Amino acid sequence: MKRLLLLLLCGLLIQTAFAQEADLSHPSPKNPPKEKGDFKKTDLVELVSLDPSIKLDIRYATDNNLVGRPVYTQARAFLQRPAAEALAKINASLKEKGLGLMVFDGYRPWSVTKIFWDITPVEDRIFVADPNQGSRHNRGCAVDLTLYDLATGQEIEMTGVYDEMTERSYPEYTGGTEKQRQMRDLLRSAMEAEGFTVYEYEWWHFDFNDWRSYRITNVPFEKVK
Ligand SMILES: [Zn+2]
Repeated sequence: MKRLLLLLLCGLLIQTAFAQEADLSHPSPKNPPKEKGDFKKTDLVELVSLDPSIKLDIRYATDNNLVGRPVYTQARAFLQRPAAEALAKINASLKEKGLGLMVFDGYRPWSVTKIFWDITPVEDRIFVADPNQGSRHNRGCAVDLTLYDLATGQEIEMTGVYDEMTERSYPEYTGGTEKQRQMRDLLRSAMEAEGFTVYEYEWWHFDFNDWRSYRITNVPFEKVK
C-alpha cells in the first residue's frame, strides 16, 4: 500500500510538473499539433471489417463515459492497418479458448481529445491527455479492450472495470480473484505476442509498438475511408 501511494504521488508530481510546463495557462489549441518528420501513411481499418467476431462496446458513442454524453457520432472502431491485422490475429487465437475480444475504443479523432480537455477543470487536467501532445489513440495505435465469452456473448470479469480510477486498474494489481487475474493476464500475454504493450496503469489499454510511426489524425469516423 505504501508503495502504491508513493507511486501515485510520484506520478502526480511528474504529471503536474509536466502539465504546468506544457500548457494549463495557455488557451486550448484549435488545431492538432504540427508534427515534423517522416510518418507512415495513415491507413485506418475498421476492426469488424477484418473480423466480425470482434465485439464492440463503444462507450464514447453512449452517455456512459466521462463526458456524460456521446462524443462519437458512430459506434465504430478503427486502428492503423498493421495494428488492426494484429488484433484480428489475436482474436482468432483466442477462439480455441472460447474467448473473443471486446473493444471499447480504438482510433480517437484529435477533436475528441480536445473535448475531454476543454470540459475538464484546470486543476483536474492532469488526468486527461493534453491536446498539445495528442494521444496514441489519436495516432490510431492504441486500443482499449477486454475479453468476452464466445458462448454467452458476456464480458469476462477482470480485476476492475473499464475506466476505473483505482489501483484495481493496474495490470500488476495482485488483488481480485485468481480467475480475474488469470483472465487479465491471458489478455495481456495474447496482446504482447502480437506487438502490443499494456499501459502500466490500465489493464485494458494497449499501445501498438509502432505508434511513433503514425501521425496525430483528426478525421471523424464518418470520413474514414
Ligand atoms: Zn486507452
